[in-house]
Amino acid sequence: MSAPSCSVGIEQPHGRAHGRLRAGVPRLREEQIVIESRETGVRPEVSALRDRPRAEVLIIGGGINGIATFRELALQGVDVALVERGDFVSGASSASSHMVHGGIRYLENGELRLVQEAVLERNRLIRNAPHYVKPLQTTIPIFKTFSGVLTAPFRLLVTHGRGRPRERGALLIKLGLLVYDTFSRAGGRVPRHRFHGARRSLTELPRLNRSVRYTASYYDASMHDPERLALDVLADGSAAGGERARAANYLAAIGLHDGRVRLRDEAAGEEFAFEADIVVNASGPWTDLTNAALGAPTSYMGGTKGSHIVLDHPELHAATAGREIFFENSDGRIVLIYPLKGRVMIGTTDIDADPREPQRCTDEEIDYFVQLAGHVFPSIRIDRSQIVYTFSGIRPLPRHDDTAPGFVSRDYRIVPGWIGRVRVLSLVGGKWTTFRALAEHLGDETLRLLGRRRRVSTRNTPIGGGAGYPRDAAGRALWIARHRGDHDPELAGALLDRYGTRAAEVLRALPASPRELPRLPGHSAEEFAHLARTEHVLHLDDLLLRRTSVAFVGGLSVAALEEAAEAVAEALGWDGERVREEVERAAAILRDAHRVELGRPGAAPL
Ligand SMILES: Cc1cc2nc3c(=O)[nH]c(=O)nc-3n(C[C@H](O)[C@H](O)[C@H](O)COP(=O)(O)OP(=O)(O)OC[C@H]3O[C@@H](n4cnc5c(N)ncnc54)[C@H](O)[C@@H]3O)c2cc1C
Repeated sequence: MSAPSCSVGIEQPHGRAHGRLRAGVPRLREEQIVIESRETGVRPEVSALRDRPRAEVLIIGGGINGIATFRELALQGVDVALVERGDFVSGASSASSHMVHGGIRYLENGELRLVQEAVLERNRLIRNAPHYVKPLQTTIPIFKTFSGVLTAPFRLLVTHGRGRPRERGALLIKLGLLVYDTFSRAGGRVPRHRFHGARRSLTELPRLNRSVRYTASYYDASMHDPERLALDVLADGSAAGGERARAANYLAAIGLHDGRVRLRDEAAGEEFAFEADIVVNASGPWTDLTNAALGAPTSYMGGTKGSHIVLDHPELHAATAGREIFFENSDGRIVLIYPLKGRVMIGTTDIDADPREPQRCTDEEIDYFVQLAGHVFPSIRIDRSQIVYTFSGIRPLPRHDDTAPGFVSRDYRIVPGWIGRVRVLSLVGGKWTTFRALAEHLGDETLRLLGRRRRVSTRNTPIGGGAGYPRDAAGRALWIARHRGDHDPELAGALLDRYGTRAAEVLRALPASPRELPRLPGHSAEEFAHLARTEHVLHLDDLLLRRTSVAFVGGLSVAALEEAAEAVAEALGWDGERVREEVERAAAILRDAHRVELGRPGAAPL
């Protein structure tokens, strides 16, 4: 990507009717969207940035790390702006294995700091975001006793992570879990690990390969809705900062001219310049490309691609007994089989990748997953006709030269620099799990440069619908009784599961008898319209892929897409032509990026 020419002016007059607009409100009001999009084509979140084109901090990148830094700074009273060129959480943050984990495997790389921080953050997330992050029992089937015991310390002490990965044996896994338990003790939120021999292992998981010698079971955590969790963090940041915390999606940073970052509204096509004391480059795998676009190329990154497949396979689902099965291939690569939303997710790969290219799950990756899942559960037939969804992304890892992809450090660092007279902090790396700690570090560094002091810590701050989330069945029944209003308790419970305590807002937006969408059971037209009005939805795919899980669970048809588009059309000011375009766009994205062929089971051909 080269630095674009910066000759386009921004200060064109716009006949807008947005004197009423309040920038940075946590949720957008329906009338704002309709007025702005009908009269000018410019979204209110974009005009809020364009009309006051300055902030203390501009964050480029609306993945979880940019969003968490936005919340962190907003809470400290910093005037902060966030721009994301696509939809929020559509980059690496939408491609994760949905695990909030210490990363037991990183012990082998000697990344003790990272593992300890990740375990602490995992425990905090279970407490602060209980609506989306839950303890997850993870079981490792082990087929060898000793393998890896010698190679792992050798890798750690002598080759510093380089060399060929090998399957780990029982002894090494036991040692790792003992260390892991020690780290977990501080927060004390999950039980300790257990080790079982073959007989007990096969009693608990009878469909497991009968040549298993041991199983090790320990607890990490799952985040079943990463995109919604990130949107909650974003909404909290906006609510905390009000007009001093502005965020817009589909707004790309495309260059730097005269000390100001040029932004392009990907919806309306308009460009304008934005000034900030500090620019935070949180572009994930695209960090080098963003620096190049700003005029200062870097080579910090060396991301690796990972893919997942999602199967509608009740037999395999039952075989996991609700656990994540964390399995190691003989070449040391990790495969996980994970029951999620009534489906089974299998991942992942670790392949060097070019962030300029779109990523998707290849036939080879599918064959690899099917073959390995078949090795773990040999009596269960698994084939590609059961695939309902696939997804891929690039991990924002540091450049790793000759280190094998699976062993590249998952730790992060913040690289300070200048581009002309603009101070830039580039983020290199950063897992989902550690987003809060990373944002705290990045926030502290930013505050130091601004000469400001920290006001509050986010360590114990509840996230979004995790605030006041009921902890047990009695609390849940009470919450439903208090908030259901005229609605069916079952609906209130389903929305509580979906949105945490933010379900109260959704319930208030629904009529007593919402209109259930026949082809999208469990969802109503009014619920979709509410999401469209309040959660920065620009395209139909934003709704299908990131505001809800309807794409993930599969089974979509053209008619279902039309139903969803019609449900949000009024809220977003779409006419018949726009509905048609949005259905086509969503169908193309589902086919090309996720291998979903509407109305047909199985992975679509490439
Ligand atoms: C296959 C896979 C599995 C993973 N599994 C896990 C896991 O189980 N647990 C875990 O903790 N972590 C996991 N990770 C890692 C984790 O998902 C990422 O490290 C994390 O999401 C990175 O977030 P980010 O905000 O830094 O980057 P991203 O989410 O990529 O966000 C960067 C954003 O910047 C935007 N952007 C780029 N250029 C510009 C520009 N010029 N202007 C405006 N915006 C721009 C992009 O569109 C993108 O949305 C996994 C990653 C992958 C790929």
